[in-house]
Amino acid sequence: MSLLLLSKGEVIMVSNIQQATSQKTGAVLVIGGGIGGIQTALDLAESGYYVYLVEQSPAIGGVMAQLDKTFPTNDCSMCILSPKLVECGRHRNIEIITCADVLDVKGEPGNFSVLIKKRARFVDETLCTGCGDCTKNCPVRYIPQVKEEERGNGPGKD
Ligand code: SF4
Repeated sequence: MSLLLLSKGEVIMVSNIQQATSQKTGAVLVIGGGIGGIQTALDLAESGYYVYLVEQSPAIGGVMAQLDKTFPTNDCSMCILSPKLVECGRHRNIEIITCADVLDVKGEPGNFSVLIKKRARFVDETLCTGCGDCTKNCPVRYIPQVKEEERGNGPGKD
């Protein structure tokens, strides 16, 4: 298995831990789930590599997911990003690891070992359907529903 590390424009070819040989076949590790990491993961997955996409935040998409329009064409940001998010999430050669930090990389080209710390999500990802009910009932502030209620526009306020 081989790994590829991508971090803010820096690309490092590394390889796997499980094989004593330096054969560069098998899997790739992409660090960062922004648009660059997503496109890299898709390209590598289409090339036949199994991709581990590691993202420190709870979801992939990065800054581009927060934008309205993109420079210089003024294209809709989500119109570009959404199909890639869906393709990335459904691609059988891509495994997305969110809420995760890369703690250590050891080894040399042809034989690398990567230590990843995955933070607790407090939700069983295999059971969550994405219905969003927990967001509506979340007691933490700074979510849209809470702000609306604070302004008197929430449910039950006429
Ligand atoms: S309430 Fe819905 S979105 Fe929230 S954790 Fe449960 S299944 Fe997932």
